[in-house]
Amino acid sequence: MSSMRELTSPATTVLWLPATAVDAMRHEAQQHEPSATGGILLGYWTDTTTVVVTDVVDGGPNARREPDGFAPDAEYQAVRVAELYDSSNRFHTYLGDWHSHPRGLLALSRTDRRTIRRISRFAAARCAVPVMLLVGGRAADGTAVWDLAAWSFDRTRERRLSPLLTHVCRQDDVSAVSADRRPHGTS
Ligand SMILES: [Zn+2]
Repeated sequence: MSSMRELTSPATTVLWLPATAVDAMRHEAQQHEPSATGGILLGYWTDTTTVVVTDVVDGGPNARREPDGFAPDAEYQAVRVAELYDSSNRFHTYLGDWHSHPRGLLALSRTDRRTIRRISRFAAARCAVPVMLLVGGRAADGTAVWDLAAWSFDRTRERRLSPLLTHVCRQDDVSAVSADRRPHGTS
């Protein structure tokens, strides 16, 4: 549900990321550098401006990884997403994707923009406001660095693509919130 105020002046959305998830993405990015890699973000929204990442799924054994592109192992990812969904009592769901830009800009490419728009239209993803996170960047000496940047795409907003404010936190923080808010826990 969106109020008029949200449509005209959207508040900044905060993306909570456990340090373990950040480490996992950086490790994966470093491991496949100079090729790109990526995967899936799982978690939950607590309100329209707070999104919490609980799990990161990697690209999988049959992913295609090249310097200018990445295509995930969809079969592997579907199994991992289903496992994490079940083990979280159906609380941790698909939030969006992440991928690396080895030695590249921390900015969405034209393909990235097309992809996030398509995900927001794709009903089966059950993801009205997808998140896209990039890991990458380049140091002055040309070597890869692994900074983070993230965006969300909301069709209901005038400015559909917005940068997210990322907050790195402890795994305990996201687990505590999910234990509190677990929708099937009490009834
Ligand atoms: Zn990209």
